[in-house]
Amino acid sequence: MPAPVQDDDSQPELAFYNIIDGKPRASKVNEQVIDPRTEDSLWDVPVASAKDLDDAVDAANRAFKTWKLTSQAERQKVLQEIADCLRANKDVLAHIHTKETGKSFPMASVDVEVAALHFEYYKGITLEDDVQYEDDTVKIIGTYVPVGVMAAISPWNFPMILSSVKVVSALVTGNCVIIKPSPFTPYSILKFCELAQSVLPPGVFQALSGGADLGERMTLHPGIHHISFTGTLAVGQRIMQNAAKTLKKVVLELAGNNAAIVCEDAELEKVVPSVAAGCFFHAGQVCVASKRVYVHESLYDKFMELFVEEAKKYSPENILYSPLSNRTNFERAKSFLADSKKNNHEIVIGGETKADEKGFWIPPTIVAKPPEESLLVQEEQFAPIAPVLTWSDEDDVVARANLDNAGLGASLYTPDLDKARRIAQKLESGSVWINRFERPHYGAYFAGWKLSGFGGELGKHGLYNYCQVQCLHFHK
Ligand code: NAD
Repeated sequence: MPAPVQDDDSQPELAFYNIIDGKPRASKVNEQVIDPRTEDSLWDVPVASAKDLDDAVDAANRAFKTWKLTSQAERQKVLQEIADCLRANKDVLAHIHTKETGKSFPMASVDVEVAALHFEYYKGITLEDDVQYEDDTVKIIGTYVPVGVMAAISPWNFPMILSSVKVVSALVTGNCVIIKPSPFTPYSILKFCELAQSVLPPGVFQALSGGADLGERMTLHPGIHHISFTGTLAVGQRIMQNAAKTLKKVVLELAGNNAAIVCEDAELEKVVPSVAAGCFFHAGQVCVASKRVYVHESLYDKFMELFVEEAKKYSPENILYSPLSNRTNFERAKSFLADSKKNNHEIVIGGETKADEKGFWIPPTIVAKPPEESLLVQEEQFAPIAPVLTWSDEDDVVARANLDNAGLGASLYTPDLDKARRIAQKLESGSVWINRFERPHYGAYFAGWKLSGFGGELGKHGLYNYCQVQCLHFHK
């Protein structure tokens, strides 16, 4: 029975609240999330009501009047205090994170640390005013000012990492933020927000727990001025429609059907472990996971031999591997396996789930040369099921990589960096990783193109999406 996590189950009894105007608030309606390793119910989590949302929006708009006037230096000081607060509570947050996501305790601890790093990174980033025009009569200065109250709506695969980016980007630019975590992983964000109240004025950072209903109300609420969303294309499209009614600014970080391209000169001993990590880390539940692998036909046999051996390392005992985080994604992943079986694709390893086993486990699965038009190649599987295809012509593989839903990332493996640059320039995605599996870096702007979204986060550039530009015309 898998589930070896070095977790500390002796954590104090935990309770979870919506955080409104600086205070914890319980709800008449509570739900429980299912632990994806054990299928046991976890703690009660309150479901926010329409009144809770109205109260949070009022509090945020009150807080915005003074928070927007704070200096960047004052806000940056608070960011360090939040990073310290995250680290001081790392074990309890990682414990909660392990339970709700199914990640191993070491990987959940990494997620908390990365969240703290986000706060420390942005402590050092300032958006300077810029002189846009000057002559003898006028000097025009562009300044970056906050938009107002932001709704941050996040998914379940990396709750701490993805939510902390939105929160820190909002706070450092002088916005107030109300975060709605995924109903599959609400606990760590509610606890993080509760802990952060010790260093923030009331109403600046609030958290409300709920599902699509709450998300709908947030995107329609006239007191919310912008939305940062990470999740699926379908929900992103819905959010844009709703946001149009009150003309909210929107950042959409959506799915990526990312291609990994292995060139004919790749050194397979080095490359295959990286490709496997791209496909199987966190059971493939990563927006930038390698969702399709294109191997030059001259290397295919050797690649497959090594890839199968590498895939075997992703067992439940491996801290980098996890069950699928919730039943919905588990059932969705099984439908991809069923489709491959129905269409007689060659499943080289994996492909079977154990009906008598607790937890939402899918073994690492490799499917050899499924047709280009198959479901597994055309759609994001968000699961440890890797299709491996071959190529021989550069323009052909680029055209196959550039699906409309592949605008988030791609990876390229070749020691020839000029060639890497040439191919990368033809790939239509916001990030291209060369000789490494896809992994965002907090210092680099991260944004989807085409059906993978628009706007973006991370790096200095990400902050511009959280601001308005105000132009000051100084007449001489
Ligand atoms: P999802 O779209 O189902 O849900 C995301 C969030 O939206 C949740 O908080 C959910 O409650 C909320 N929501 C649902 N319906 C809503 C509505 N009508 N209005 C407002 N909010 C609503 O996505 P998910 O299953 O939680 O996340 C997995 C997806 O996210 C994958 O497709 C993955 O590729 C993508 N993702 C993208 C990135 C990125 O940075 N581009 C990062 C991680 C995950």
